Amino acid sequence: MTVAPPSPASSPLLFPLFADLRERRVLVVGGGAVARRKVAALLEAGARVTVGAPQLDLALAEWATQGRIEHRSGRFDPNWLDRMWLVIAATDHGPSNRAVATAADARRIWVNVVDDAGLSSFQVPARVERGPLQIAISSGGGAPMLARALRERLERQLDESLGALATLLTRHRQRIRARFDDIGARRRFFDRVLAGPLSGLLRRGDHEAAELEFDRALAAATPRPAGSVALVGAGPGDPGLLTLRALRLLNEADVILHDRLVSADVLALVRRDAEQIEVGKQAGNHHTTQDGIHALMLEHARAGRRVVRLKGGDPFVFGRGGEELQVLREHGIDYEVVPGITAAVACAAYAGVPLTHRDHAQSVRLLTAHCKDSHDTLEWAGLAAGRQTLAVYMGVSALADFGTRLIAHGRHPATPFALVENGSRPDQRVVTGHLANLADTARMHDVQSPALLIVGEVAGLAERLHWFGAAPLSGATAAPLAHAA
Ligand code: SAH
Repeated sequence: MTVAPPSPASSPLLFPLFADLRERRVLVVGGGAVARRKVAALLEAGARVTVGAPQLDLALAEWATQGRIEHRSGRFDPNWLDRMWLVIAATDHGPSNRAVATAADARRIWVNVVDDAGLSSFQVPARVERGPLQIAISSGGGAPMLARALRERLERQLDESLGALATLLTRHRQRIRARFDDIGARRRFFDRVLAGPLSGLLRRGDHEAAELEFDRALAAATPRPAGSVALVGAGPGDPGLLTLRALRLLNEADVILHDRLVSADVLALVRRDAEQIEVGKQAGNHHTTQDGIHALMLEHARAGRRVVRLKGGDPFVFGRGGEELQVLREHGIDYEVVPGITAAVACAAYAGVPLTHRDHAQSVRLLTAHCKDSHDTLEWAGLAAGRQTLAVYMGVSALADFGTRLIAHGRHPATPFALVENGSRPDQRVVTGHLANLADTARMHDVQSPALLIVGEVAGLAERLHWFGAAPLSGATAAPLAHAA
């Protein structure tokens, strides 16, 4: 069992923070329109602003006369930096901006040079404001226009009532804390309040009714709600294949217990402060025993948390979901199950292989054989019958024996197969061929887990119908026998 470490960033991101500038000194170098806009924003944040410039524009000059800002006249002097917390260089003179940046850096004072990310040690983000609520958007300084365009989009989408909501919740913060000592319970209360009628009342400007509704919701909430477990299918890897309900649960979870098969792109959608625990299970490498997983689910659910047990594909298709539910049921823990797109369905779609087809296959069988020993329990005669598609979940090492046995029990050696490696993911590969060459072909292309094997006439359609990623790689050298279907 491991707690996922922060992913190493190849080009590190800026670290966002919101600074409390009340009564703190900030220097703005420059006396034109750009400087004025920065000064206005700083004054709004309560900063004590000094403007250094040979001349001030009209508005700045007036603010100086009124005593709202202090004016240092003349060219930049490093002594201006004394006692400053922050500096903004907003002159239209490159060398002056550079001098400010260098001097500030030498004294470890945070500096922003307007429109020059290279010289800046901090960036001022584009902002969306709703009352005390602020959303800051940054492109890292590289594409400010993109950040601005996004801000406009958010401006249109975010309701004005959010400001009133933030104010109301701020006002009642102490009461909320007093009612819920558990952070998970508090979070759940917020989720419920946000989904309830409060926003609508605020939107209509009915503050009195909103207050009453808040009081009612607070009184009705249970301070220690019961924990629960959701068994959620994460699909094959492409996050676009998650269900809406899976996405919602990932956003609400306190704890995520996930298999190694779950893709990084899906995990990136999990709520940031949820605890992520990998209970990795991969062919031949069982990190956490099934009993260990059961114990973790029970422990977290009993502590009142919302647990998401996240599994690759569908939880009930070769996912041991049934066993996990039995344990939860025995221990009286609430649960729900959210289906996911199973590997057979996803790999077939992303490889252009229809699992059924009026000309070729009237049925599909999903089967698993994770090692050669498990082959002994399969019912081969039935599997070898024609006009059906086999979707085989298995470790790559079990492939060779599988093809041989199928042929031995009567499936034609020229029956097409498609092996789909990393189905639906950016690195998907599809390898096609004929049953007789299955093992050689897999070896030749060094097919790795996770891979799904599709056997049946329909697999032959991948050549023509593929659409996702690279074209199928085809088979080994030995010529297949003519296929008498
Ligand atoms: N519950 C999962 C299956 C778990 S068994 C589901 O419904 O998909 C694990 C096997 O699933 C792997 O050995 C492999 O055969 C298959 N598999 C899972 N994800 C896959 C993917 N993205 N591409 C190819 N095969 C995959």
